[in-house]
Amino acid sequence: MDVQSNLNRVRERIMTAAFRAGRPPEEIKLVAATKTVPSEIIREALNCGVVSLGENRVQELLKKYPDLPPETEWHLIGHLQTNKVKKIIDKVALIHSLDRWSLAEELSRAAAESDTVARVLVQVNVAGEETKFGLSLPEAEDFVVAAVRLPCLAVQGLMTIAPWVADPEEVRPVFRQLKNLAQRIEGSLPGATMKYLSMGMSGDFEVAVEEGANILRIGTAIFGQR
Ligand SMILES: *Cc1c(COP(=O)(O)O)cnc(C)c1O
Repeated sequence: MDVQSNLNRVRERIMTAAFRAGRPPEEIKLVAATKTVPSEIIREALNCGVVSLGENRVQELLKKYPDLPPETEWHLIGHLQTNKVKKIIDKVALIHSLDRWSLAEELSRAAAESDTVARVLVQVNVAGEETKFGLSLPEAEDFVVAAVRLPCLAVQGLMTIAPWVADPEEVRPVFRQLKNLAQRIEGSLPGATMKYLSMGMSGDFEVAVEEGANILRIGTAIFGQR
């Protein structure tokens, strides 16, 4: 496995998909999904210009945190337990997995205590899969409307995990629906900034780029099979 050449390939594919969609590739942020990847290998990716890392679990993030340079931008992309919020609130740039009201309240409370603002994306289970976390499409808009009123919570966009499919074309409608939801929310809620759409993983990121993703969470295509 060669992180450098994998990254080159991934970046090339992002660029090609962006040009195909008439989008500037610079507006697309790559978050390297690093669950189960040891710190030494992650460091290789950082040496190749990766800036943002996405971890799924709080324990794993805390374990790797001291190993890696302080300028690393950490993202929490996995399900977050309410009782772990305090441990990461001052360490992460963005939490992609806000999926329930109790977590929104705890994030705002913990951020206030740490004199910070919790920057979050609301996770939407667009396809309604029972095995996945996230609000349903019909719930999501009201949830955002309520969440933006919490004092120390900054809702910056939406995140989804598309169903696993052999042909990524099949999940194009999932990405399109998330983008439509973001536009609907921006239209109906003055002051709501749906700045980020976090969608697209190793198997489907090109389609996600074509549908407007500006954060991609990519693991396998960079680090190889877990
Ligand atoms: C593992 C993971 C990814 C990356 O998946 P790959 O298929 O390895 O690119 C992205 N998002 C989340 C939430 C993940 O858990």
